[in-house]
Amino acid sequence: METSRLKALFDILSKIKLHWWILLGMLAGILWGFYLHEAHYDVLLEQAYLEVFGVFPDTEAAAEATRHEVQGELQALFNATLGGSIAHGLAELFLALLRMVVIPLVVASLICGVTRMSDFKRLRRIGGRAAAWYITTSFFAISTGLLLVNLFRPGERATMPALPSDVDIPEPAGIWDMILSMVPPNPIGAAADFDLLPVIFFSLLFGIFALLVDDEHRQTIYGFFNAVFEIMLKMTLFVIALAPIGIAALIARLLATTGVDVLWGVAGYAATVAAGLAIHFAVVLPLLMWLLTRRNPYLVMKTMTATLVTAFSTASSAGTLGVTLEQTEQRVGVDNKVGGFTLPLGATLNMDGTALYECVAVLFIAQLYAAANPEFTLTIGTQLIVVVLALMVSIGAAGIPHAGLVMMVIIFEAVGLPLELIALLWAVDRPLDMMRTMVNVWSDAVGTVSIAHHEGAIDEEVLFNRRGASISAPG
Ligand code: ASP
Repeated sequence: METSRLKALFDILSKIKLHWWILLGMLAGILWGFYLHEAHYDVLLEQAYLEVFGVFPDTEAAAEATRHEVQGELQALFNATLGGSIAHGLAELFLALLRMVVIPLVVASLICGVTRMSDFKRLRRIGGRAAAWYITTSFFAISTGLLLVNLFRPGERATMPALPSDVDIPEPAGIWDMILSMVPPNPIGAAADFDLLPVIFFSLLFGIFALLVDDEHRQTIYGFFNAVFEIMLKMTLFVIALAPIGIAALIARLLATTGVDVLWGVAGYAATVAAGLAIHFAVVLPLLMWLLTRRNPYLVMKTMTATLVTAFSTASSAGTLGVTLEQTEQRVGVDNKVGGFTLPLGATLNMDGTALYECVAVLFIAQLYAAANPEFTLTIGTQLIVVVLALMVSIGAAGIPHAGLVMMVIIFEAVGLPLELIALLWAVDRPLDMMRTMVNVWSDAVGTVSIAHHEGAIDEEVLFNRRGASISAPG
């Protein structure tokens, strides 16, 4: 009787979807952090001041000005409490797991995406056009994000949690340094240093040159990296399955020293990302398609509703790929020789929504961090680094839920932001992930239709002549 009840309970629990667990984890983290804050903050803050300065500041302003200097000590004191040490241990474990999967996932995903092209010559032209589409649209997306985040400045309206100030801020690099930093003298070393740009560069070159050797070797390489990719996807999904616990711990550890007020700031950030995504989805991408083809993009949008809804609800471009392929070919009339290549590649490499989101998220955190830490200034140079890395990271992110958030670690490290602040982004990641995935898939679809148009690879009977809805192609 008891065992059957347990089994029934387990059955019910296992049916609850991950995003509900994540929500539960967040709520648990908020309660846990709230408890830690209420129970220990005043005592530990005083203790931290005594240990760092020997005295407790007598005015509020003096406390405010020196607050970040005692943060390291305060965090250490929190980590020594029972609830704090559990939160700290689990949070560190989760961050380590997140970092662990990034490099193998990126390498395998890129090499697979490129070596999937079997006939190099026939696909070179389509590949060139696809690459142009991927880069141009991602760049537009990032620009929209950059504009909005500088316009609305959500980070300045949020309250900054004080954090340890011992973060290295890199000097902005010169142009040659930037180019040179992309080429790894030792690819294994670059991977070991978690240096993503050179790793992406090497993986892309490796994939391209794999297309130029005997087919037998290409098949071997494709088979091997495809297997690695599948395994890494599973491993990443496993890490993501631990997210509810990791998130609870990260949020609890953060809120313990900051109080819960810090969460209000995240609302402005989420609204900025959502506004940027909406503009890119409904205005920029349709406009680009119309300019390139003079065809009605909203007709394609309507025809592909199932694809877009699948992308939205799964938050995974890779998971949606089957539906995307089926609908672009069967309902829009795109020939498989175009869609069969640009869609799988796009699902791995082309992520406009993710690029926009990375840019807004990092700059939001940077605004927040800069407001509280005078030694961290958000220069134009830093913003440019963020733009370039947002593009790189969106290319390197796998098409699975939360991949963009996992990759965020790279940009944080590059611009010298504390990884802890990623906890703030987790709080609203699921809805933003659903939206950005829909934008990612929509960009793949619209790009594919535009390329197919110029290849003469659209079956007019299928979509554009339907119910006289066509705006016909020029010439
Ligand atoms: N979930 C997104 C996708 O599959 C990637 C991301 O997390 O940004 O397209």
